[in-house]
Amino acid sequence: MRYAYYPGCSLEATAKEYNQSAKIVARHLGLELWEIPDWSCCGATAAHNNDHLLSLALPARNLALAEAEGLDVAVPCAACFNRLRAAEEAVRESEAMRATIGEIIGRDYRATNRTRALLDVMVNGVGLEKIGEQVVKPLTGLKLACYYGCLLVRPPKLTAFDDPEDPMTMDRLVAALGGEAVTWSYKTECCGGSLATARTDIGARMIYQILRRARDAGAEAIVTACPLCMLNLDMRQGQAAAAQGDRLNLPIFYFTELMGVALGYAPKDLGLTTHFVNPLPLLEAKDVLRHPATRRERA
Ligand code: SF4
Repeated sequence: MRYAYYPGCSLEATAKEYNQSAKIVARHLGLELWEIPDWSCCGATAAHNNDHLLSLALPARNLALAEAEGLDVAVPCAACFNRLRAAEEAVRESEAMRATIGEIIGRDYRATNRTRALLDVMVNGVGLEKIGEQVVKPLTGLKLACYYGCLLVRPPKLTAFDDPEDPMTMDRLVAALGGEAVTWSYKTECCGGSLATARTDIGARMIYQILRRARDAGAEAIVTACPLCMLNLDMRQGQAAAAQGDRLNLPIFYFTELMGVALGYAPKDLGLTTHFVNPLPLLEAKDVLRHPATRRERA
């Protein structure tokens, strides 16, 4: 199974551990990720706040490079996924838009390929059965709140792989890894995104609500598929909780990191040693880390 891979800016900077763990897990499962050469920023939220055409042309260029290779595109970042899907649909729906974008990016993009979230590719492409067969350290006893955020499953016309109100893709993955996904009502609440930078007071409240609800639902950690959600929930957690007179110490994981743990890879190789809230004591307490002497080699 071969996909074009669009890591996006975050996975080269704040979310290196997402990139690292995604590549290790993909290789292990026989999923070939061909990184689009010379990929450029998708523009994310900044571009579509300023210039509609630019916000479509930036991701379209990346999609065109993958289309030339005849490949569908796998995207780990929820924000990138959303913007790439928007460009794909705009070109598919309008010949005039296709011509305009073609002129801007200097190549013909016909939207014959499809953009998919990496989570969707793993769960519905590779398949839970195959993933489950490879588990050597089931996440037994680990209670996890699956947090989808607002961009991974909305708007449903673009995202289309899960329910926009009560998504279950990550929950099913957690179960296949042997863990327990808790029931909670904040799985698609907004974490505030970059508001956490512009209005830290508002952002901190939004972040705290998500963390607190997860903890109240019995979760020992949160799982995410978005670099910005991770940044807010992990890096800003101490500040957000302290503002409410609380201290949570709730580890946050990328779903690919937990897959790597269950497949037997070492925490360091998955980037788990770089988190702000150290997740290792929890993993050690649950005995879900493979013994160092038998761990898999770096992929
Ligand atoms: S959306 Fe980004 S956060 Fe995700 S990588 Fe593209 S510009 Fe960055």
